[in-house]
Amino acid sequence: MKKDICAYTYEQLQKEMEEIGEKRFRAKQIYDWLHVKQAEDFCMMSNLPKGLRSKLDENYEILPVTLLRKQESRLDGTSKFLFQLYDQNVVESVLMRYKHGNSVCISSQVGCRMGCRFCASTIGGLVRNLSPSEMLGQVYQVQKLTDERVDNVVVMGTGEPLDNYDNFVRFVHLLTDEHGLHISQRNVTVSTCGIVPGILKLAGEQLQITLALSLHGATQDKRKQLMPVADRYEFGEVLSACDVYFKRTGRRITFEYSLVHGVNDTDEDARELADILRHRNCHLNLIPVNPIQERDFKRPSRKNAQNFKNKLEKSGINVTIRREMGADIDGACGQLRRRYVQTNKE
Ligand code: SAH
Repeated sequence: MKKDICAYTYEQLQKEMEEIGEKRFRAKQIYDWLHVKQAEDFCMMSNLPKGLRSKLDENYEILPVTLLRKQESRLDGTSKFLFQLYDQNVVESVLMRYKHGNSVCISSQVGCRMGCRFCASTIGGLVRNLSPSEMLGQVYQVQKLTDERVDNVVVMGTGEPLDNYDNFVRFVHLLTDEHGLHISQRNVTVSTCGIVPGILKLAGEQLQITLALSLHGATQDKRKQLMPVADRYEFGEVLSACDVYFKRTGRRITFEYSLVHGVNDTDEDARELADILRHRNCHLNLIPVNPIQERDFKRPSRKNAQNFKNKLEKSGINVTIRREMGADIDGACGQLRRRYVQTNKE
């Protein structure tokens, strides 16, 4: 089995080079080829001796993340990418062009086992975890294919990043390392459905990334209706884990709340949500649910969503309605991949 060389942090690569009898400084050169120049083959590494290049080629591999399909939104500047991995599995990534910069949304797993009822990514269950290099590969490919700078990375695509904890944390180190792409940790956001031990562990990693918590309900019962993960962790536990994260990192939490008509968008829901968030230093992101083919969930009208937002604002909460991006190109999480997997099964 060849080793996945892009998954080595800078320090790990230095050690590895020493272990295979090479000089430490080779790690700097190789790291630069992999993470700055984003080489896809060892033969491109022209400042390495030929012998080392073949040694690398024999023992290591650069896992492929290959473009299968690209869709451009005609409504806004959003592009969606479907990538194929070494084992023919596919993942999707999205590039969103905002005034304040470009954000890439990446997947952390092939499929997902969290089972959130309105989410397309979880319908086929979890297939496998992505390696750190496959998460990184999505960012590198988007940058290469568009020739545009990536300013922000959000781990909000298919998968639950804290269900793939070690690979996810390694990915953050690789992405933000000064020897590589060097994205600021403050420009990285990770979204979780609320795996409490994972949040607490992440709070101790001394990272400056933003934590986004998928709330979707303001009580234990409401959350349970939409998210099976709520059966595992009490609502109060989830909130205190977020408080710990804020305390230890100083990073304001983003709460995400998908508005589902008739399920969690009433005045009472707004009141309950305001009671929970009022005393917390946080940001609330409302996402009118993207209806998916397999489920019968509807989004509230524009007016209702705006009313919901106003109620929270009146309670002093910092709130935005997430602008819908790429609605004409399977905008909702996991829909492009889902369609691909479906079509190729038939
Ligand atoms: N597993 C992580 C990250 C993936 S999804 C998490 O649960 O946070 C990123 C966000 O999009 C989550 O808040 C998720 O609940 C939400 N989401 C998924 N499918 C959606 C849909 N069809 N409509 C609106 N939001 C959706």
